[in-house]
Amino acid sequence: MTIPEEMVAMVLPETRRPLERRTVAVPTPGYGEVLLRITACGVCRTDLHLVDGELPDVPLPIIPGHQIVGTVVARGDGVPDLRQGTRIGVPWLGWTCGSCRYCLMGRENLCDQARFTGYTLNGGFAQYAVADQRYCFTLPDHYDDMAAAPLLCAGLIGYRSYRMCGDGLDRLGIYGFGAAAHIVAQIAVHQGRDVYAFTRSGDVAAQDFALSLGAVWAGGSNDRPPEELDAAIIFAPVGPLVPAALQAVRKGGTVVCGGIHMSDIPSFPYSILWGERSLVSVANLERRDAEELLAIAPEIPLRTEVEPFMLEDANEALSRLRDGRLTGAAVLRIGTE
Ligand SMILES: [Zn+2]
Ligand SMILES: [Zn+2]
Repeated sequence: MTIPEEMVAMVLPETRRPLERRTVAVPTPGYGEVLLRITACGVCRTDLHLVDGELPDVPLPIIPGHQIVGTVVARGDGVPDLRQGTRIGVPWLGWTCGSCRYCLMGRENLCDQARFTGYTLNGGFAQYAVADQRYCFTLPDHYDDMAAAPLLCAGLIGYRSYRMCGDGLDRLGIYGFGAAAHIVAQIAVHQGRDVYAFTRSGDVAAQDFALSLGAVWAGGSNDRPPEELDAAIIFAPVGPLVPAALQAVRKGGTVVCGGIHMSDIPSFPYSILWGERSLVSVANLERRDAEELLAIAPEIPLRTEVEPFMLEDANEALSRLRDGRLTGAAVLRIGTE
């Protein structure tokens, strides 16, 4: 298998600028790393936050994309397990130090030195990428490359958010019905829970989409649901949804903020938090989230709704995501021709 010296990549040159199509060197795998030929890469709201300058300390220029599906085409030293030709997925968490207090307490998602795919490590909006093999996952055969990509962040962050919803979960609210929500909703419905979907008010397409996945109710984000919720997950990066969700959950209920960035949360009366309601955030993922989700996905089976784009159309995919004009998950289809 010949590996070319150069590849096409969509590169972020500066924040708040469009990605540029560039020809760059194919990276060489270092110790413990594999080189992937990429076939698909999901587009996530975090990519949008990166491009829009809402994440700190971006090492520019950088190649975004952290839901990578590809095939191993070369290995560095110290890679015993992954053979050439193996299909793998690369998620957001790209490396951790293993020695900081968070790593030692088993919370690698909070590692002080963590590196992130498509943020502090070059990502998958390109024909090739290198990745530390310890943070890669083999993917269930049930999914083709395009369908597997959204599992790697929308799925993983969604699953982690869902896990944090607490006990006694019968009624789950989901604010922002995009890529992560459409996966969480299927897991919750499969497990016999009632899903209440909150979208931008008047977004009938998103509400219909939620109902088609088994939600019992869909409405605007300012609507009160017909029943008190046991927990709510907020995927939309909209701070005013926090008090709205707190008002919708019962005593002892949990509100989970699933995104990496959110607009400011307006002040709210303590009474809507009182009653032992919890407000928590989800940061990154642990490898355990991936192992668990990738095991249950084909059993349910989770179906990922994908809107395909060519690699060169990454800017179009991002702008559609920004405007809320996507149903399900945008995924770049990447070839080497
Ligand atoms: Zn660490
Ligand atoms: Zn993501």
